[in-house]
Amino acid sequence: MSHLPDGVIDELQTLLGPKGISTDADILASHNAEARGKFEGKAEIILFPASTEEVAKSVAICAAHDIAIVPQGGNTGRCGGAVAGPRQVLLNLKRMNRIIEIDDRDFTATVEAGAILQTIQDACAKHDLLFPLSLGAEGTCQIGGNLATNAGGLNVIRYGNARELCLGLEVVLPDGSIWNGLSKLRKDNTGYDLRDLFIGAEGTLGIITKATLKLFAQPQHVATAWLAVPSPACAIDLLALARRHTGDGIAAFELISGFAHDMSVTYLKGLTRPLATQTDWHVLIELTSSRPNDDLQTLLVDLLSNAVEIGLATDATIAQSEKQRANLWAIREGIPEAQGFEGGSIKHDVSVPVSKVPDLLDRGITAASALIPGIRPCPFGHVGDGNIHFNFSQPVQMEKSDYLARWESLNSVIHDIVADLGGSISAEHGIGQLKRDELARYASAEKMKLLHAIKDAIDPDHRLNPGKIV
Ligand code: FAD
Repeated sequence: MSHLPDGVIDELQTLLGPKGISTDADILASHNAEARGKFEGKAEIILFPASTEEVAKSVAICAAHDIAIVPQGGNTGRCGGAVAGPRQVLLNLKRMNRIIEIDDRDFTATVEAGAILQTIQDACAKHDLLFPLSLGAEGTCQIGGNLATNAGGLNVIRYGNARELCLGLEVVLPDGSIWNGLSKLRKDNTGYDLRDLFIGAEGTLGIITKATLKLFAQPQHVATAWLAVPSPACAIDLLALARRHTGDGIAAFELISGFAHDMSVTYLKGLTRPLATQTDWHVLIELTSSRPNDDLQTLLVDLLSNAVEIGLATDATIAQSEKQRANLWAIREGIPEAQGFEGGSIKHDVSVPVSKVPDLLDRGITAASALIPGIRPCPFGHVGDGNIHFNFSQPVQMEKSDYLARWESLNSVIHDIVADLGGSISAEHGIGQLKRDELARYASAEKMKLLHAIKDAIDPDHRLNPGKIV
């Protein structure tokens, strides 16, 4: 029996037509699925509007029937943000996937929210322009989801998070009205920044329908290296050295624990070990330049020689071909998949000031080992941004279910240390429902009061993505 009031499906069907709505169990099953299996979607209806007007009218119809809407992009989020309950309607933006304009004088792209991230990157590349947001899910996630979660990814150290890459938005508000904030302006100090309010709001304040994005000159040169480093502290010193040596030419700087590296090269097909050296810590560094005459290979060789000479690295290799570069990135990006072969994994997407990363790793590993003897730390991540995916694989002898039952207690231990170091319990994945209670625990009373006040002001009836963030 449907949990939705009579008539609402008819009204939505009339508005959206057969392509714009589904109650098909198979279609719903894929959109109700949540990748980590921590939450179960229960939506009985999904909408696929094809225009901003259809989104706005769908929202108005649902509002009239007092039904909540959960916006959904590529459903690759890590915090259960795009998961709907039984009396809620899923609204997926995938049919709104047009690249509306690429402007090679303003260096902007204006796109619909359902455009896949990789499609945007490719379209910009055809104009010899770069949209630098890049992450493992880029073939599936949508730009609307990227902006709604303020996604980070691999190139934040150089270009910033999704927030820094967005100039303007069009948003459907909870009452069905449309705020047109599309803009190519680089400077606009006219009051509260509404754009930034919707970015990172995870669909709790409005449904992003279009965006104007910042573009950059396409890199002409790339140089990528894999290094063995003695410790995380050396990795941080190496980062500082590399920033100065290259004039902030670093596009990515990733730290990878020995365990994470070993799992990738062991379990994933076709990958080769970059170095013969066995080490507890690895660094992947990539330099890029848009200047035609730059010689990044020589710059990187100089940097690595210097690093080895002063003891910040013990071994290093530079990719000599695109194939070798792809191998290095596949090792890094394959870690979450490879970890699945070693049983249960308890994960933390956290950040601290870059200089505190060694303290975080040291204290976190000690505390986790005291809580769950035999636990196997598997940290890796965007250390250039102070962002560690502080994952822990289960002890070898433990049952997976017993281990995963410790998820919250381990989270508390790690999050306490993160908070003590002035860090964030969610670096780039957002809050969703996974970290909602943790946010309330670690945020100040003043911050929580402001978050609730903003939600109540823009969505007084809590009809947009209720139960997420606050
Ligand atoms: P969804 O998962 O569909 O939704 C995420 C949230 O945004 C939900 O709350 C949803 O309600 C809301 N939302 C979606 N679309 C809209 C819209 N149009 N308007 C308003 N709200 C909306 N994230 C990173 O930040 N950095 C990484 O490096 C990274 N790597 C990843 C690697 C892999 C292999 C995977 C699977 C995920 C990774 N992620 C990463 C997480 C995820 O890809 C990002 O959070 C992504 O930005 C989510 O986009 P999506 O379209 O899939 O959104």
